[in-house]
Amino acid sequence: MADMYAVRNIRLCTKDCLCLYVCPTGATDTENSVIDVGKCTGCGVCADSCPSGAISMVPKTLPAQQKHSEQVIKAMDVLLRSKVEQERISAGLEGKLAAAIERSNRIMAEDLIREAGYMLPQSANAHDFLRGLLDRETDDDFPRDAVERLLALLEENDRP
Ligand code: SF4
Ligand code: SF4
Repeated sequence: MADMYAVRNIRLCTKDCLCLYVCPTGATDTENSVIDVGKCTGCGVCADSCPSGAISMVPKTLPAQQKHSEQVIKAMDVLLRSKVEQERISAGLEGKLAAAIERSNRIMAEDLIREAGYMLPQSANAHDFLRGLLDRETDDDFPRDAVERLLALLEENDRP
């Protein structure tokens, strides 16, 4: 069994073409368009054949979060706060330019958060965040079972 599996980006997929015919296991042919990882052997034929670049091969074991020095973490924190502030200011202004600045600041802030490890499923930051959610007082409709399932499923590999 390969150490990769295929993932389809539904926004890029133009539907009903090559991957449905070349996949040897039928993993690509599902009702909800999500590739069936239970059937996927990781051969990569679908990704090679897709005319839209909609399929990516993803490693089953994710690489460890990149380490950053204290200096870099502090710089990211300052930059992130400034992007959040700029997003907040532009959200209060009118016009397309302000909307574009708001959006671009949001994207840059998300990149910084990802770079800091908060959006990587394998990072200690993400796991601490999820555990923190379970420790908090939450409403009755808070999906605790979903958070617990995520913690059980996501392998953490970046704790020293
Ligand atoms: S990687 Fe191979 S088995 Fe998996 S979905 Fe693509 S073609 Fe099918
Ligand atoms: S080959 Fe690509 S575009 Fe075609 S159905 Fe598969 S994922 Fe979608």
